[in-house]
Amino acid sequence: MRFGIIGAFALILVGCVSAPKPAPGEWSIAIHGGAGVIERAKMSPSQDSAYRAALTQAINLGAEKLRAGGSALDAVEAVARLMEDEPLFNAGRGAAIGADGRVTLDAAIMDGPNLTAGAVAGVTTTRHPISAARKVMEKTRFVLLIGDGADQFAREQGLEQVPNSFFITARRWAILEAELAAQNLPVPARPAGLTDDRIASNTEAMFGTIGIVARDRQGRVAAGTSTGGLTAKRWGRVGDAPLIGAGTYADAGCGVSGTGTGEYFIRLTLARRICEQAGKDGRDLQSAVDGVIKGDLTRLGGDGGVIAINARGDIAWGFNTEGMYRAKASALSAPAIAIYGDEP
Ligand code: ASP
Repeated sequence: MRFGIIGAFALILVGCVSAPKPAPGEWSIAIHGGAGVIERAKMSPSQDSAYRAALTQAINLGAEKLRAGGSALDAVEAVARLMEDEPLFNAGRGAAIGADGRVTLDAAIMDGPNLTAGAVAGVTTTRHPISAARKVMEKTRFVLLIGDGADQFAREQGLEQVPNSFFITARRWAILEAELAAQNLPVPARPAGLTDDRIASNTEAMFGTIGIVARDRQGRVAAGTSTGGLTAKRWGRVGDAPLIGAGTYADAGCGVSGTGTGEYFIRLTLARRICEQAGKDGRDLQSAVDGVIKGDLTRLGGDGGVIAINARGDIAWGFNTEGMYRAKASALSAPAIAIYGDEP
């Protein structure tokens, strides 16, 4: 008994000494809603303002959570859930549709201080894949669950299930038809009763993935990404979003979420590469982002972008496409929303 108490005391002592002490400070958060061919000339004023309104709502929710002392992880999940429900983005409802006319969703979340992560790929009935990813992280000893098993797990965890048609919007269906025609592939039967969302035309054929990086008032960093992947994808294709280190990564000092042609992000283990380079040889976060996006990714022929955050709360973003839907906010700065490449 005495030994037990001494042992426990020693354990607590070791825990105190070895647990990384988060630096006190203030919160900050950045989000993206996908990168791609987003040209000012091709966006109507109503499309432009619909995206800005959706980004504003999302960043405000994250700011509210963090300002109230919420954890970075909770902020990431809450904002991702909101964006998954927003049909403008390629995640949850309004996600890109596969060649077979079905939506399959990928998501990952990572908690920096513990280096814990959870992810799902190819889910078809779970309304909020980001929450399924978090449950994988917190309730299993696994990191990545796929397909029917992942949906079953989510259901068992009490997460809302919906028919696959819930995710399909008229706008994404039009994008699918155009992409299948371009690839000379047959068009599956159009689901009955597709409702149109707030904007009709298809400005971007590919991207629209969502991602969040946050740093809370305790100095904890988290990152999350959620997507329907690429339009007209086939054969169970999985992108970078649910692959830890590729499209999503967070450690004690850095968090990254990416969007773009996932295959390149996977080959570069892009998110982790940025975190590794940030802080090395005095490199700041923005120069690490620029080096990987404008250097490595571009050289390899990939396109896309990232948002990144570090444990000090610095935010950086970068993309080699015409635009990226994005927003940031911190305790020290009001929310900033941007879409095109020429915006700060
Ligand atoms: N990165 C995603 C994927 O390849 C697509 C996107 O960002 O829109 O699945």
